[in-house]
Amino acid sequence: MAECIFCKIAKGEIPSHTIYEDGEIKAFLDIQPSNPGHTLIIPKKHYENIFDLPERLLLRITSTAKKLGGHYREKAGYNAFNIIQSSGKDANQDVMHFHMHLVPRHEHDGLDLWKNMKKGVKPDFEALKEKLKIKQP
Ligand SMILES: [Zn+2]
Repeated sequence: MAECIFCKIAKGEIPSHTIYEDGEIKAFLDIQPSNPGHTLIIPKKHYENIFDLPERLLLRITSTAKKLGGHYREKAGYNAFNIIQSSGKDANQDVMHFHMHLVPRHEHDGLDLWKNMKKGVKPDFEALKEKLKIKQP
């Protein structure tokens, strides 16, 4: 994993605009922001995606997103956020080191995350439910 850019950022080998850091987590400004304040939250240790990230760390990262969002609301006047996590190339995961996006939003900022959604798709919901549901023990 010597080439992983987020591992290098986590170790401070590549500089970043760090917003928050503790022993396990680092949050820094995305250098290609969707909106000003767009922040990435990563585990310092390398995990590829949500499936190999320990649940305890996922909870800590999610909790950090909430803490930062609250801080941004208080200090920068942002009042809305998108919290995005992509796991897998087909979901547009660009860096294969788990990261959570915290994207501050404001009215008329021109972002529309659902612009390209497939409108009018009508899957077989009953078949999907049968395939996907988790059976209670
Ligand atoms: Zn990494």
